[in-house]
Amino acid sequence: MSEKATAWVFSGIRNTLDCREIELPKLGEGEILVKNLTCSICKSDLHTFSGTRPGPVPTILGHEIVGKIVDLPDKCVLDFTGQRLNTGDLITWTIMASCGECSYCKRGIPQKCRLLKKYGHEKLDEHFQLTGGFSSHTHLYPGTATFKLPADIDQRLLAGLNCSWATVMAAIRSAGTIEGKNVLITGAGMLGILAVMVCRELDAAKILVCEKDQKRLDLTKEFGADLCISESLQETSVKTGVSEFLQNEPVDIIFEMTGSNEMVKNAFEYAGTGASIILVGSVFPVDNVEVNPEKIVRKLLQIKGIHNYTPEDLASAIEILKQTHQKYPLEKLFDDRCFNLNNVDLALEHAAQSSSHRVIIDLMD
Ligand SMILES: [Zn+2]
Ligand SMILES: [Zn+2]
Repeated sequence: MSEKATAWVFSGIRNTLDCREIELPKLGEGEILVKNLTCSICKSDLHTFSGTRPGPVPTILGHEIVGKIVDLPDKCVLDFTGQRLNTGDLITWTIMASCGECSYCKRGIPQKCRLLKKYGHEKLDEHFQLTGGFSSHTHLYPGTATFKLPADIDQRLLAGLNCSWATVMAAIRSAGTIEGKNVLITGAGMLGILAVMVCRELDAAKILVCEKDQKRLDLTKEFGADLCISESLQETSVKTGVSEFLQNEPVDIIFEMTGSNEMVKNAFEYAGTGASIILVGSVFPVDNVEVNPEKIVRKLLQIKGIHNYTPEDLASAIEILKQTHQKYPLEKLFDDRCFNLNNVDLALEHAAQSSSHRVIIDLMD
């Protein structure tokens, strides 16, 4: 094993990363060192890289990572499900590390821990210098939930588990029972298309998708969508189309994945009586949206926000991936061009232009 890691550091200069060699750490209690194998580029990486989302620097971006353990403390370490971890094990881990002690951790929302650390988002410090995926290694903080993974699943899929897959499972959990429900999903990016697939697996009655990119919209059919609606249609024609398709049955659950205020507003229009509206996409600064409280009351609406997820959601994501990876054309979500540790900067440039759901960086050497 080389004594140094190679890492692409973002120092806050727009569209610029610099490649550095960084000493491998001496592990403290509860820490693990991972050799990164595959990392995919998430939209939030692109927002930070292009300067549209401020964040602490210097940092190593990239949080959708899968890797192999290369160093861990001598004493027995268990993953979240109780399996013993050893060097060489293929693992994923939660996007965040949390303390387990604070009031938020105790209330079951560790993703809001008061001492939260988030991979791919933290300012590098003297001890933790390898906390992102655009790097040969990741140094895991104590308080990170880890999960041993099967070796027979495409690593490009495993890399996405700890972001989009787990977030979708958090959204599904908060929506309650999916079976027999009419579901509307707005946005067919990574979150939207996975939500279509999971709702199909969970026996939703009808799955409707609204999206502006025709190619993405068409692809949702292969993941189980029953009705594809172009976002460019007038709101009234969408509403008519939806109620005709559902033969006047209500939309029971709406997953809003775009973050567009227009779609958030429309969600209140499309929601049937008793519906749940799950807001997931609004993760960047937006203007206020006017809502009519009487409508919420009379239609018995429930509105929930989802941001990141709990370790249990990541466990569910792994289970659903095991069930679905050979059943759906998941390989169609990846860009044809493959990048490696030598050209991470080009990978980001390419991802900013690409219409694929994910661009992959292969970090195996
Ligand atoms: Zn992500
Ligand atoms: Zn905490």
